[in-house]
Amino acid sequence: MGGINKNSDDSLINAQTGPPAVAPPLPGPLLTRCARKGLQTKGLPQRGDCCISTTAIDLWERLFDQGYKADVQIHTDGGGVVYAHACIISMASPVMKGMLKKSKRKGHYQILSIHGVSDDAIRVFVRFLYSSCYQNQDLADFVVPLLVLSHSFVVPRLKQICEQQLEQGLLNTENVVDIFQLALLCDAPRLSFICHHMIVKNFKDVSTTEGWAAMKQSHPLLEKGLQECVLAEDNRKKERIRRKNERKIYLQLYEAMEALVHICRDGCRTIGPHDKVFKKDQPPCSFEACKGLELLIRHFAGCKLRVPGGCIHCKRMWQLLELHSRLCADSDVCRVPLCRNFKDRIKKQNKKDKTKWRMLARKILRTKTIGVAPFFTSAYER
Ligand SMILES: [Zn+2]
Ligand SMILES: [Zn+2]
Ligand SMILES: [Zn+2]
Repeated sequence: MGGINKNSDDSLINAQTGPPAVAPPLPGPLLTRCARKGLQTKGLPQRGDCCISTTAIDLWERLFDQGYKADVQIHTDGGGVVYAHACIISMASPVMKGMLKKSKRKGHYQILSIHGVSDDAIRVFVRFLYSSCYQNQDLADFVVPLLVLSHSFVVPRLKQICEQQLEQGLLNTENVVDIFQLALLCDAPRLSFICHHMIVKNFKDVSTTEGWAAMKQSHPLLEKGLQECVLAEDNRKKERIRRKNERKIYLQLYEAMEALVHICRDGCRTIGPHDKVFKKDQPPCSFEACKGLELLIRHFAGCKLRVPGGCIHCKRMWQLLELHSRLCADSDVCRVPLCRNFKDRIKKQNKKDKTKWRMLARKILRTKTIGVAPFFTSAYER
């Protein structure tokens, strides 16, 4: 068959460098001229998407089926012959027109040959040239050869229908590699984008298919390109997870900071400022981090190894207290222990440590962009 071979393997591979980020739109409006004029489109459920009146379609289909006064024979690989009318198929496909001009004659008939596609697929294709109609089942059965034929013989409407049908359900992990290569050869950018996306997303399943193995043999560069895309997507996913986890930690730290201020200012359950009397029937605390922090403070108060760098729990408490001091807006009114001491120590710290803490403080404050509590400084937000 002529058209498909025009594209060499090189163009197939070249087309794959750098897929676009978004699927290109389907070319042109979907409605044919008669549909736009508002003609009836109902009453044709078996005929798929078609918008001509049934009488006209019946007439054209009868003309094709009966081959009345046909003047073209289309010979197929299977030894079959499809009869057609030169004037109709020439009007429907410019490539057919060109082929007919150069075709041989055999008696009354002009002879065309189409190779590489089954007889049935060619019949469905030529029928479409007559009536722009198809049976849904035929399209499902022959969507791949019909895509190739419609591209090769420049029948954009049918090509568009094939692309749509593949996109809307006929594409699966088994056939996606073949369709992907076909889409590149047939210059169907939207379809190739969708296939590419499907391959990358379902790589585990797709890479075990026969289609993948065949492509590996025939187009190793294409396979390499796809592998690289899968790897890049994998890395993006890992990065997303890493950022999510990081954010979670900063959020926990932020909540711990809030709870620390709350415990030292208002008291909570069993711990609090010495000048406050505890009521037994207190409402439940709204700070989720309180419970864990309360245990930590209790430990800190009683730990025998209470030195910086000592027990890990104490070390954590020191870090929380220092972090608080970095975020604290006003140490003069603050009731968190050592807040002022840390503030004084910070002044003597070297530049490297200062930067490290500054970055941490900024990240913590950024996790809560809305409603930053008034007791934290906003100096790090910039
Ligand atoms: Zn509390
Ligand atoms: Zn300890
Ligand atoms: Zn403070």
